[in-house]
Amino acid sequence: MLEILTRGFRDVRQYLQGVRTLNEENLSEALAMIRVSLLEADVEFQVTRSFLEKVKEQALGEIVHVSVKFKERKLKVSPGDHFIKLCHDELVRLMGPEDASLDLRRKPVSAIMMVGLQGSGKTTTAAKLARFLQKKGNRPMLVAADVYRPAAVDQIRKLGADLNVPVYSDGGARPPEICSKAMQIASDANCDVVIFDTAGRLTIDEPLMEEIHQIEELAHPDNVLLVCDAMIGQESVNIAKAFNERIRLTGFILTKLDGDARGGAAISIKEATGVPIKFVGMGEGMDRLEEFRPDGLASRILGFGDVVGLVKDFEEVLDEKKAEEDAMRMLRGEFGFGDFLEQIRAIKKMGPLQDLIEKLPFFPGGLPSSAKVDDYELVRIESIINSMTPAERKHPDIINQSRIARVARGSGREEREVKDLLTKFRDMRDLMSAMGGGKIRGRWKGMKG
Ligand code: GDP
Repeated sequence: MLEILTRGFRDVRQYLQGVRTLNEENLSEALAMIRVSLLEADVEFQVTRSFLEKVKEQALGEIVHVSVKFKERKLKVSPGDHFIKLCHDELVRLMGPEDASLDLRRKPVSAIMMVGLQGSGKTTTAAKLARFLQKKGNRPMLVAADVYRPAAVDQIRKLGADLNVPVYSDGGARPPEICSKAMQIASDANCDVVIFDTAGRLTIDEPLMEEIHQIEELAHPDNVLLVCDAMIGQESVNIAKAFNERIRLTGFILTKLDGDARGGAAISIKEATGVPIKFVGMGEGMDRLEEFRPDGLASRILGFGDVVGLVKDFEEVLDEKKAEEDAMRMLRGEFGFGDFLEQIRAIKKMGPLQDLIEKLPFFPGGLPSSAKVDDYELVRIESIINSMTPAERKHPDIINQSRIARVARGSGREEREVKDLLTKFRDMRDLMSAMGGGKIRGRWKGMKG
């Protein structure tokens, strides 16, 4: 996902490597490179412009001598890294503030209305949201209010049955009545939140808007979420703007972000409308809905991985306490290859590899072969780690040249590959422990791994 932006920022980082100070000249070149990459990623023109202006203003306004103190060493933060950090902060600002909250205060039943165009992923997302709420301890009910497309009713019934979530439908009634009646039915069934799957259209038309208004009047949804397809880029932003002018939206759910190489919608939609992104759809499976964290996405775009997101994923397969401890050990620089291997094994259980790997900070600057991390990449890493002794896994710093040669022989890999893995591991650990230690001066502080 979002490969175009990640590649763009990586190129800029490379370009700024070795630069001693940021000046007008190298800054202009770096900004020009980012401009091309943002536009190529389908970020709205205005948003691109304001992004570049803000970054430029801050980059020029600062004296760039930031250093990170770690153990006995003083790690210099290069102007290039500092510049990327400014981009990170600006991306977070554009997409934030973080707000994945839903208003579920109404008793006995709160309501969420899903709206969106046909094919945006509305019905699938309604079910995913039911699953999400169910996991949080709520008792959701799905409401089939898309009566024009019989297949939609069947689809939501099937999804509900798979998830063990009750589905209310009424073929004879009109959507506003269905929704209003559903509130009572849900209450009687001891459900505490209803999700209306309203009708999608091919374009925004009057009858659609009228129907949404009528549902609002009769059922008073507490949340109105517009489901937008990230893969259609800026068009999705235009649709969001048009809906936002006509109805009261409380948030967006951006779907198919997993297949979106560009990322324009994710970056522009909040800035263009003022309405927050609440969730993102990361795949077709029912568990592929994530609360939107601007910081996590910005880090991923910039190739730093998304440790918080990763830990959240781990919570699903590992116990929560362990995941927390792992994250803390990572931050303290105590994370060894043994932990890494354990996590790789857990990852294998978690489904779409590509997705998870992107969150791993061990691949800063993009994935090894960028486009595809298949199981092979993990097998390679696993075989290298497997050939290490327990002491080496725990204290990778003892791995010297002769140990490298032995590990390479044992795993059937090249020495170069072993060295490469060690370098990545050490860099990451050093950086993370420096960040976790709170010994960072200047604006670098607060950056997530
Ligand atoms: P609706 O017409 O808006 O109700 O759209 P559907 O819910 O029927 O979804 C249309 C297609 O998009 C289906 O094939 C879904 O599986 C797919 N889809 C929905 N959300 C996602 C997502 O986050 N990622 C991917 N890859 N596909 C999705």
